[in-house]
Amino acid sequence: MPIDLVLRQGRLIDSDQAPVDIALADGRIAEIATNITVDAPEERLDGRLVIPGFVETHIHLDKSCILDRCDCPEGTLQEAIASVATAKRAFTEADVYARAQRTLEKSIVQGTTRMRTHVEVDPRIGLTAFHAIQRLKRDYDWAIDLQICAFPQEGLTNDPGTEELLIEACEQGADVIGGCPYTDTDPPTHMARIFELARRFDLDIDFHLDFDLDHTWMHLDEVCRLTDAHRWGGRVAIGHVTKLSVVAPPRLAEIGARLADAGVAVTVLPATDLFLMGRTHDHHVPRGVAPAHRLIGHGVTCSLATNNVLNPFTPFGDCSLLRMANLYANVAQVGGPRDLRACLDMVTTLPARLMNASDYGIAVGHPADLVVLDSRDGAMAVAELAQPLFGLKHGRRSFTRSAATIHRPPANPQTANG
Ligand SMILES: [Zn+2]
Repeated sequence: MPIDLVLRQGRLIDSDQAPVDIALADGRIAEIATNITVDAPEERLDGRLVIPGFVETHIHLDKSCILDRCDCPEGTLQEAIASVATAKRAFTEADVYARAQRTLEKSIVQGTTRMRTHVEVDPRIGLTAFHAIQRLKRDYDWAIDLQICAFPQEGLTNDPGTEELLIEACEQGADVIGGCPYTDTDPPTHMARIFELARRFDLDIDFHLDFDLDHTWMHLDEVCRLTDAHRWGGRVAIGHVTKLSVVAPPRLAEIGARLADAGVAVTVLPATDLFLMGRTHDHHVPRGVAPAHRLIGHGVTCSLATNNVLNPFTPFGDCSLLRMANLYANVAQVGGPRDLRACLDMVTTLPARLMNASDYGIAVGHPADLVVLDSRDGAMAVAELAQPLFGLKHGRRSFTRSAATIHRPPANPQTANG
């Protein structure tokens, strides 16, 4: 098969070996070797890191970029949910598409090649946002693999008509089903119904869960029990789980072992969790970010993700997953090379595992999804927020960012001689 492009001397993140050449053919990785001799177009990487793209497991494209429509003086989770619930009534398919497109393009130029987006389904919005995101998924399949997780943000059993809409979304091609028991008046039934629907449509599950700082009770026990009962291990993820930020190490170890045993993955959303948690404190404010790097040590699959962009849940966001890894490292007070590498893993290989993306990774036969970072070391890429320089999706260049240039003045002959 003719080689379309060779990336020369790139450094792989999962290897401490010398840089390698990567040959691409027909949208796939054809060969990886120290020195590939072939007459084909080439791109010199000069030892820079090449990764299979960042993997975003948890983002809300449908409600991104609505800061100008919401007024949230208190900054609490309840206020954010209520404010978006009101704004949502005016969403149209064109409006959702335009805002989601803006956020998706920001993610693409930050080097994200795979993404799971949560989309709200309920009687206020119907399937309007779901249809907009389905169209976006098709229109941008040249740049990103988008999974759509349909979920009832405002509850299920307490919101008549929601379950019927959720079923319709599943029938119309939702890739994942989500749940949000903390907004439901009957959380156990909410969780049980989501598992039943996941079984019926053969879908992975992704819950918003345990999103406060009260450690005296947790829904994750019930999620683990249901995961075991339905034999759904490896197909269930829970997001936020901020309660885990306030438990002592021995209990965290027990919970970590339970999650690992059940096959329940955890997504930590540092920007949102930092912004919304601890709002009852006016000083000595708790951070409210679950210790993902410790959970990894207990065998849990963990990812770091963006969650919200420019809305009442998170009024920030450039969609850089490397920034999320850096933010997490800073907040969790990890700075050694091993832990910083784990932070990079939590925006690359571990989220790919969470999403059961078996063809992710730089390996012969896998899709030629490659992103080049302006760095030569994975830990340093997190520490320095290394710029993504360009990316390929299925072997085709999907984005380019120029490296910064210093423009020095001409050398002064007098000082040069002196
Ligand atoms: Zn979320």
